[in-house]
Amino acid sequence: MQEFITSSDYHFILRQARTVMNGNMNANDEDVLAAVSMMAVERAEQSASDVPDELAEVIRTMGNIREREDYDRFREQLLPFVRPMAEVTDRDVRKLFPKVKNLRMPKFSEAVRKELTYLGWNDPGTNRKYIVFEEGDGLTALFGQFRPSGKKGVCSICNGIDETGLFLTETRHAGGETYTKRGNYICTDSMACNRRLDDRGRFEEFIGTVTK
Ligand SMILES: [Zn+2]
Repeated sequence: MQEFITSSDYHFILRQARTVMNGNMNANDEDVLAAVSMMAVERAEQSASDVPDELAEVIRTMGNIREREDYDRFREQLLPFVRPMAEVTDRDVRKLFPKVKNLRMPKFSEAVRKELTYLGWNDPGTNRKYIVFEEGDGLTALFGQFRPSGKKGVCSICNGIDETGLFLTETRHAGGETYTKRGNYICTDSMACNRRLDDRGRFEEFIGTVTK
């Protein structure tokens, strides 16, 4: 099957689906529920471009979500349409981080990669967080010092509230004589971060600020 939706669109559609589910669990007014469902379906349809009929049909069933079971079934029906993030091999990692020796990257299955806008992992040995993402036809990577704060805060990538840490990056400028240091609070758990990330634009903005 051809895959049509990105991970961030997938999470966006799921958020709309949860709105319908929560609306049904918390509200009794039929008119309010119908409005909530209609709005959620509309927003979900707008998020995916050139929606083929099979996908449009699945999205429309969102209006019928009443409870957790319906939500889980909806998610399963949506999954085949989601394009996973490209697989990143150990060879890719060595190329992306040529100066880092013995870098270990966890393995990410295809099911997990469907949930990822970026691949992120912590290396407690060096107190670093590594980030790899797709850009054009290739992969781009960066890393920074990372120390979990042990406290909850707002993440600069997903905008959600979770345990965050300070991600410190250094950008060298032309000639290599000057550099800019930047610090951003981002989620300690990059998997949870990806699951909240329902707008790829926010991730790109973050990358833009740390690499400037
Ligand atoms: Zn986050």
